[in-house]
Amino acid sequence: CMELIKDKPNIAVFDTAFHSTLSPEAFLYAIPYEDYEEFKIRKYGFHGISYMYISQEVEKLIGENKKVIVCHLGNGASVCAIKNGKSIATSMGLTPLEGLMMGTRCGDIDPSCVFQIMKDRNLTVSEVEERLNKKSGMLGISGMSSDSRDIEKAASEGNERAILTEDIYSYKIKKYIGAYSALMGGLDVLVFTAGIGENAFRIREKVCEGLEYLGIEFSIDENNTRKSGIQELSKANSKVKVFKIPTQEEYMIAKEAKAILEK
Ligand code: AMP
Repeated sequence: CMELIKDKPNIAVFDTAFHSTLSPEAFLYAIPYEDYEEFKIRKYGFHGISYMYISQEVEKLIGENKKVIVCHLGNGASVCAIKNGKSIATSMGLTPLEGLMMGTRCGDIDPSCVFQIMKDRNLTVSEVEERLNKKSGMLGISGMSSDSRDIEKAASEGNERAILTEDIYSYKIKKYIGAYSALMGGLDVLVFTAGIGENAFRIREKVCEGLEYLGIEFSIDENNTRKSGIQELSKANSKVKVFKIPTQEEYMIAKEAKAILEK
């Protein structure tokens, strides 16, 4: 771009920047410290542009200084704990492979699975990397598709592997919601966003099932009613508010770029 359009400024908006507020206990892995010092092996986190946008929208809806968990569930998926507008924990790591189960990525696994699969299947590093990034997740468990629309349809028709896929998928999200609520000392707002978060009713319902102990009164009727734009999915008396908020990463990138140009 710099060569082709010489007289225009180039601006990079990093998807990791929002997570620059993570503290060392949140971003360090318990591996030899020199791997961090020499090679910068640490958690970076992703979907930061989306989280920044959602955080600003939540602020407009219910004000500042809140404890917010955002579930960005697209083809890639992650969760972020945002306390007083700052990312304090997020599920993706050094790469987007860590954390939730995704369309084709495995998310959290015992690192020893990698060594075991390499031995059992006689795979190289790049082959096992491809297996965990491109053949796992929803696709790997269902054996059918990485698209939650296919999984949802098959599950509603009683397909056991599709039901299992939805169960694992929502179990992992629920686990992070519990963990991140503990880290923030409670929760005020839970947000679902991106392709699956904005559209997959069954997943949202499964995730919120049994979260009354946190103060979530989830409205199944509202959840099953498709509406465009921002939608509140919790009941009026819910202590914790649940929202579907469509993310707008392109808008956020443009806004950031504009702010830099105007500096
Ligand atoms: P994204 O990466 O945010 O564009 O999300 C893409 C994913 O969202 C797709 O792979 C689908 O699994 C999911 N998705 C999109 N539309 C729907 C829908 N109407 N119902 C369920 N899942 C959807």
